[in-house]
Amino acid sequence: MDKRLHQGHLARKRFGQNFLHDGNIIDAIVSAIHPLPDQALVEIGPGLGALTEPVAERLTQLTVIELDRDLAARLATHPFMQSKLTILQQDAMTVDFAALAQQLGQPLRVFGNLPYNISTPLMFHLFSYTQAIRDMHFMLQKEVVNRLVAGPDSKAYGRLSVMAQYYCQIIPVLEVPPTSFRPAPKVDSAVVRLVPYSQLPHPVSDLQVLARITSQAFNQRRKTVRNSLGHLFTQAQLTELGIDPVMRAENITVAQYCHLANWLADHPSQQE
Ligand code: SAM
Repeated sequence: MDKRLHQGHLARKRFGQNFLHDGNIIDAIVSAIHPLPDQALVEIGPGLGALTEPVAERLTQLTVIELDRDLAARLATHPFMQSKLTILQQDAMTVDFAALAQQLGQPLRVFGNLPYNISTPLMFHLFSYTQAIRDMHFMLQKEVVNRLVAGPDSKAYGRLSVMAQYYCQIIPVLEVPPTSFRPAPKVDSAVVRLVPYSQLPHPVSDLQVLARITSQAFNQRRKTVRNSLGHLFTQAQLTELGIDPVMRAENITVAQYCHLANWLADHPSQQE
């Protein structure tokens, strides 16, 4: 039998379709999410409903975002879920989550076994709506979860760690082997919980500046910051801002990146 065939659906690689079929893992994820009846849960990529069914059982209403037209159509005629589901057949990257929270009258609880090919840009999209989001639970490649939670002085620490930790508290939940999916992905997976801070620990005045500094530092992560950020800060300025110029991108904490970004935003002439 074709390994891509699951419940009569031929998995589409371009949509990152790897369907969960391991009952124990599904139970563990749903317990970690802990959905309560009147909450505003939103699932990204419900697929064939492996997580959707047990979550919908506990709710009166559930919003799902599914790009694959065939899968969205299957959900629309699902025997016991159809009356509870609001189906948005669209790319999750184009969803206005703030408008959705407003429509549902409360902050969203977003979850999903994400298509791995777009998981990082999708998280960046969601980070721009953290004021409208209560929490997020995602299945991701284990390596991406390692990057999300990594602290300074480690190989996994990078731009994604800094940007994610700027917005959210991040808690790894469980690891999931390839055998829990059909078709089995080539990599290990893990579930992570992201809880947006109600008060940012290190607010910056201009996020673009933080994004720019972190990408320039980490794009040349083997260089000292004296070199990688040399066009933005002099050595003396770095020292004054508490950064040793011989440090590398991975030695700088989130708080320090935010401090650099705020200083640079206050000195726009330095940014040319
Ligand atoms: N939730 C199901 C499960 O756990 O078995 C399916 C997970 S599968 C890894 C990812 C799902 O996301 C697929 O149903 C796929 O069609 C959907 N998808 C892919 N790209 C998407 C996008 N840009 N927006 C919304 N859904 C997307």
